[in-house]
Amino acid sequence: MNSHDKEALEKLRLSGKILRETREEMKGFVREDMPIIEICEKAEALIHKKGGKPAFPCNVSVNEIAAHYTSPPNDTARIPKKSIVKVDIGVHVDGYVTDTAFTVSFNPEYKILAETAEQALKAAIDNIRPEMPTSKLGEIIEKTIKSRGFKPISNLTGHSVGRYLVHAGTSLPNVSQLSFSKIKLGGVYAIEPFVTLPDAVGRVEDGDKATIFRFLKSKSVKNPYAKQLMKYIEENFRTLPFAERWLEGVVPNEHHRDAFRELLTSKAIMSYPIFVEISRKPVAQAEHTVLIVQNGCVVLT
Ligand code: MN
Ligand code: MN
Repeated sequence: MNSHDKEALEKLRLSGKILRETREEMKGFVREDMPIIEICEKAEALIHKKGGKPAFPCNVSVNEIAAHYTSPPNDTARIPKKSIVKVDIGVHVDGYVTDTAFTVSFNPEYKILAETAEQALKAAIDNIRPEMPTSKLGEIIEKTIKSRGFKPISNLTGHSVGRYLVHAGTSLPNVSQLSFSKIKLGGVYAIEPFVTLPDAVGRVEDGDKATIFRFLKSKSVKNPYAKQLMKYIEENFRTLPFAERWLEGVVPNEHHRDAFRELLTSKAIMSYPIFVEISRKPVAQAEHTVLIVQNGCVVLT
């Protein structure tokens, strides 16, 4: 390992440490009836305080929403009573990204969904190794979930992680499926099984909201405020996802809405819709980022 690799590894490990600490502190404060925006802002503030930057907005996805909800500006939504909540957070240190998630169930009936997601994640971590086909990993996750009487979400996957990239190209399926990719030695991967009830469809579809965005390409836009906003986004978030909340005060309030809309219509930025389980059944998720080593993996988060 050369000195450049060593430095990269140190940044990656620091990224994982910041994220792990943030996750464990969050487990202590996520409560029923809490404003979702308070959870998001607290998580992101903790990450900054510990010396990292959010790799994407804190996701707080409730019940049948599997992923991709973060609070929009001035969000009034609260954690519903008896809900099951996925909290998904990411950190980067100089572009070295780690990604983790946990599920809290305020409904005793659905605690087992969260436990099953954790067990599937553990089985994957215990078995992952260099040269393993990603289809084999999917098979392990699927079997663990089904053996407990539940169903994996088949169209959500884990992913390889790269510098300034949350999704770096390789998908890690949560079910056994035809795939020719293999786990690489030295690769960094986020493993994230999603679990739902056995009578659910077990797939997600795009919902009607989008609260997370990403810069695509610099475009010539007419509105000077759109231009200013685009420059800020490109410089601050590069290829990483961001929340509209993070843009407050970049341009005068009265011009924000039109400027932001112009960036979307000109395709300078894109939006990620929320993912909703098709049959509207509750979903649980667990996630860790791992580094692949000779005999298995090191959990970074
Ligand atoms: Mn995640
Ligand atoms: Mn992920």
